[in-house]
Amino acid sequence: MSKATFQALGTGDGWAGDRRGHSAFLFTLKNSTLLLDCGEPVSRRLRAAGVQPDDLDGIVLSHLHCDHVGGFFMLMQGFWLDQRNRDLTIHLPAEGVEPVRRMLDAAYIFEELMACALNFTPLQEGASFEVGSITVTPHPTTHLDQLKASFGEKYPADFEAFSFVLENEDTRVAHSADIGGLEDLKPLLTQPVDLLVCELAHVEPDELFAYLKDHPAGHIGQVAFTHLSRPYRADLEGMQAQATAALGDLPHKFLNDGDVITL
Ligand SMILES: [Zn+2]
Ligand SMILES: [Zn+2]
Repeated sequence: MSKATFQALGTGDGWAGDRRGHSAFLFTLKNSTLLLDCGEPVSRRLRAAGVQPDDLDGIVLSHLHCDHVGGFFMLMQGFWLDQRNRDLTIHLPAEGVEPVRRMLDAAYIFEELMACALNFTPLQEGASFEVGSITVTPHPTTHLDQLKASFGEKYPADFEAFSFVLENEDTRVAHSADIGGLEDLKPLLTQPVDLLVCELAHVEPDELFAYLKDHPAGHIGQVAFTHLSRPYRADLEGMQAQATAALGDLPHKFLNDGDVITL
């Protein structure tokens, strides 16, 4: 029996596209299932994957860009109409808790209509939490730092973005979500990982590949690249050739929507 499966529900970047959905990933470690990010059309993708409303043990939102949360409200409308029964915890940046609650009310998804409670819990640096039997550790990234420098005065907020380590007793997976630079990958790789899911829009490919290759053999079991920016995606074959040349025997894959990796 496999230890874990990872399913890419949406592998696009921040731009609207006709081939790729936006960021949404399903991690199943043993009997626990976690949905990481809710880019649209996550509801349809979950349905297509045969995931029932009560199957999800928890939801984690890495940051509030729409390509990561745009499908969340439809997902909750679906949970209302399908009458999900199990209480659900949504882990998200603290600055999102009140706006998301307000938007649910504005969209008439009232708690009185739901068959389950929705609990919103702020992500905190290094503060691990459990989703079923999966231990999740959030690490802040610099993804929104430039925006904060430009707009933080006019739009006061923390501009929080997180990457994650997901683990149980026999599997350890790292997920970059959106980063601001290579230094954001460091806390994910302090220990060996079976799988690194890594974005490729906010870092230079040659620098990323060199950084990954710089780890001891076996430290990273395999790498799955996602969130490729449009120019990188447009030259996918070139990107694959560049990765293969740089990474050598480090197993790696460029994800398409629907891809499943079994560990
Ligand atoms: Zn993104
Ligand atoms: Zn983003």
